[in-house]
Amino acid sequence: MVDRRRSRPLQVGAVAIGGDAPISVQSMCITKTADVDGTLAQVYALKGAGADIVRITCNDVEAAQGLAEIVPRSPVPIIADIHFQYRLALAALEAGVQGLRLNPGNIRNEEHIKTVAREAKDRGVPIRVGVNAGSLDKDLLEKYQAPVPEALVESALKEVRYLEEVDFFDIKISVKHSNVPSMVESYRLLAQAVDYPLHLGVTEAGPLPGGLIKSVAGISTLLLEGIGDTIRFSLTADPVEEAKAGRQLLEYLGLRERKGLDLIACPSCGRAEVDVIRVANEAQKALEELNLPIQVAVMGCVVNGPGEAREADLGIAAGRGRGHLFVKGQVIRVVPEAEMVTALVEEAKRLVEEGVEARLAAADKDAAAMAEADRGVLLQTQGDANRVEIKRKAVAETAKG
Ligand code: SF4
Repeated sequence: MVDRRRSRPLQVGAVAIGGDAPISVQSMCITKTADVDGTLAQVYALKGAGADIVRITCNDVEAAQGLAEIVPRSPVPIIADIHFQYRLALAALEAGVQGLRLNPGNIRNEEHIKTVAREAKDRGVPIRVGVNAGSLDKDLLEKYQAPVPEALVESALKEVRYLEEVDFFDIKISVKHSNVPSMVESYRLLAQAVDYPLHLGVTEAGPLPGGLIKSVAGISTLLLEGIGDTIRFSLTADPVEEAKAGRQLLEYLGLRERKGLDLIACPSCGRAEVDVIRVANEAQKALEELNLPIQVAVMGCVVNGPGEAREADLGIAAGRGRGHLFVKGQVIRVVPEAEMVTALVEEAKRLVEEGVEARLAAADKDAAAMAEADRGVLLQTQGDANRVEIKRKAVAETAKG
C-alpha cells in the first residue's frame, strides 16, 4: 500500500481533490469551445471513458460564451484553460466554470493574477498553477539557461505566492515537462516545498504508443511514491484515449476501484494451441462493448493457462481444438475452439449477473474430467517431445565423440 503524501483538500465542483480523495482523472477537449454541441459531446465521451474532470480552452470571447452554455449541461466539472489574457479568466468565472488553469509563463502581471484570484475566491473556484517546461517564464529561462526542474518549481512557487498574498489557498499545481526524468524530479522537488495538491502529467508526450509509455513512466513513478492527486495523459490522440488510459492506470495501480474490463492474456509461446493474439483481440473488442467490471484471462494452452490465471474471475484456455472455460481457475465448460470468444462473452455476462458461486455450481459435470484428459494428453505429447529432444542430443554427443 502506497503511503500517500498529505495534501490540502479542495473541491473542483463535486469532485474532491487532495486530502483523502481518490486520485482523479482529467482530460481536455480538442473541439472549438464555441462549438457548444460538439464540445459537450466530447465531454460526455470523456466522462464515459473515465474522466472525472474535463478542461476546455477559453482562448477568446466566443469560447467564454460557449463555456456559459457548456458548464450547466456538463456531466463533470469544467476547468477553463487560460493563457495570456487574464480577462478571459474573469469571463470563464462569469460563465460558471468550476476551476481555472493559469499558465504562469504567459500571464505574468502580478496584479492581473491577483484580480483573478480575488474573483475566484469570491466564487469558491480553485486555480491550478500550471507550469509547462515549454512555456517557462523568460526570466527563469535566462537564469537557469534551460527548463530544469528547479526553474519549473521556482516559477510555480512565484505564482503561488501571488495567490497567497490575496489569501487564496484553493491551489493545485503542475510542473509538466516532456522529459520524463525531469518531470519526475520537478514534482519531487515541488512535493517537498508545498502541501498543495499536485496535478501530474508529462507534457507533449506525443502519439501512441510512445506518448502512453512516457506518461505511464512519469505518472506511475510519482504515484507509487505517494505523490499526486490528479492526473492527465497528454497524448496526441483522441482525448478519449487519454481518459481511458488515465483511468486504467489508476485501476492497475490499485488506486481506483475497477469500473470496467481488465483483460489479461498470456504472451503466447511455442506451447500455444491457438492464435492467442487473435482470440485476445476478439475477446477484448467484444467484452469492452459490455464494459463489465471483471478480470478475464485468455490463455494459449491448457497445460499452464488455468493455473496461471486462477486469480482471474473468468478465463479460457486452448487445448486440442477446444476451449476450457474456467471461473476462478475451475473449469466449468469445454467448448469447440471456434466458439471460444462467444462462450467467453456469454459466461462473462452470466458471471456478473449471477456471481461466482452460482456459476461454479452450474458447471458442466463432465467439464473437469474432459479438461483433465486434454491436459493429460498434451503433457504426454510434451513428454514425448522431451524424450525425442533428449535422444537427439545423445545422438549428437555420440557423433561428436
Ligand atoms: S499459457 Fe501456455 S501458451 Fe501461454 S505463454 Fe504460458 S505456456 Fe505458453
